[in-house]
Amino acid sequence: MRQLWIDGRATPSRGGSVRVIQDPATLDAVDEVYEGTAADVEAAVQSASDAQTRWRKVPAVERARLLHDVAIALRADRARLSELLTREGGKPRIENLDEVEWCAACVDYYAEIARNSHGSSVPPVAEHQINFTIKEPLGVVGCIVPFNYPLLLLTWKIAPAIAAGNTVVIKPSELTPLATLRMLEQCLSHLPGGVANVVTGGAAVGEAIVDHPQVACIAFTGSTAVGTRIATKAAARLARVNLELGGIDPCVVFEDANLDVAVPGVAWARFLNAGQVCTSAKRIYLVEKIAAPFTERLVEHVKTIRLGHGMDPDTDMGPLVSARALQRVEDQVGRAVAQGARVAAGGRRQPDAGPGHFYAPTVLTGVVPQHPVVCEEVFGPIASIQVVKDAEEAIAMAARSEYGLGANIYTSNLTWAMQAMTEIKAGTFWINDPLTDNDAAPFGGMRKSGMGRELGEEGLDAFRETKHVHLDFVPEKKPYWFPYRQRAAEIPG
Ligand code: NAD
Repeated sequence: MRQLWIDGRATPSRGGSVRVIQDPATLDAVDEVYEGTAADVEAAVQSASDAQTRWRKVPAVERARLLHDVAIALRADRARLSELLTREGGKPRIENLDEVEWCAACVDYYAEIARNSHGSSVPPVAEHQINFTIKEPLGVVGCIVPFNYPLLLLTWKIAPAIAAGNTVVIKPSELTPLATLRMLEQCLSHLPGGVANVVTGGAAVGEAIVDHPQVACIAFTGSTAVGTRIATKAAARLARVNLELGGIDPCVVFEDANLDVAVPGVAWARFLNAGQVCTSAKRIYLVEKIAAPFTERLVEHVKTIRLGHGMDPDTDMGPLVSARALQRVEDQVGRAVAQGARVAAGGRRQPDAGPGHFYAPTVLTGVVPQHPVVCEEVFGPIASIQVVKDAEEAIAMAARSEYGLGANIYTSNLTWAMQAMTEIKAGTFWINDPLTDNDAAPFGGMRKSGMGRELGEEGLDAFRETKHVHLDFVPEKKPYWFPYRQRAAEIPG
């Protein structure tokens, strides 16, 4: 049984029930956690709030030193962290080893830029004045994350927030809390107590964090529906939000694309983490000239993707995270087929991979914009193919969306690439190399995919306020103060 992490120590819940965490590949119990309560959230926020009054005064260089120690601890614990990520979430272990390394790199990045990024001096408007800005932390930040990259999406929040002098209250996904608890216990435990706290549980814990008057900012990654609800509640008390939400990202393969790159690239961008990636290639547009050979080769490639338990080094793709997720994907494919889409590969559960929530990597052809597999976000291994006449039509179709998280294209034609980049609204635009993130480059969504940015300097500023300081070093009474009759001559007529 894992405890909550509050005030720098493992803490039992105040009245919470027990939730069993299941391995989605085997359906075996992995461990148990508390379903936290409002009293647990209260204790965590109080601890974070007390700690913040001290943490914000710790010199940035000392905060950087402590964060570099966190990165060292993450790398030292990568074997266990990656195993826990695999057992609770189902991703292949190699992807989870990468995830832990990306977390460590992100912590190192923010340790450095937070101590080097500061306010600026501002030209004064009169004599003997000095004007400058300083960057201040917001206070307590609530961090609510989804199941698909439990540590990475958390690190994108807590590394900049803590580096900037905030303290955090974390709510992991109710499906994947184990690696997060381990990370707090093993890698963040040398930070002062209360700087980082974890309350496990579901929506009720998340709502208690969102509603708490001492939580200054909610950093959320998850579905558009939940993000919209959080934004509405936060607006009622003018709390800040940073929202990383869903996406139905387009992927365009132009007629000049090298299929030796585009076929495996699209397959990886769609089937990575069993298609449970916010930026995966969810609407695939093939220009007519290459549509047949591309589809044929994609179907062949898909046959080589090995399903299995993520701890098996030969596994390329694990299960979906839950029975609910599996049911939803099955339903979306069923409705698309009923409306005329054709199954070129997969299109069924794959029980021979294990007793868990396995769904075969699937290729659907004959897809049209009205099909549920492109109108709704499909969080599963479904490649939905639409064939378009030419580059112009491809760009127009790709640009047509209410979402705007990412987009990826394959071409060496500069004109098409830049036209697509200009027309498609997306926070990240990948050309010939999908889904690669860069700690120094901002990541986030437009439209229904969210607001605000993580990573880069913008990801640090998401957790800081700017204060303008005006100093007059020769105190004197100003001629523009009361009484105004001394300025009567300035009034025209
Ligand atoms: P989800 O929205 O169901 O849950 C996300 C988190 O919110 C979980 O911790 C959940 O317990 C919590 N939550 C649920 N209801 C809540 C409420 N009423 N108040 C506060 N918290 C609440 O999402 P999910 O199924 O875990 O993840 C999949 C979704 O996340 C997809 O839509 C995907 O596109 C999106 N996502 C976005 C990004 C991004 O960076 N934009 C990254 C990964 C995933």
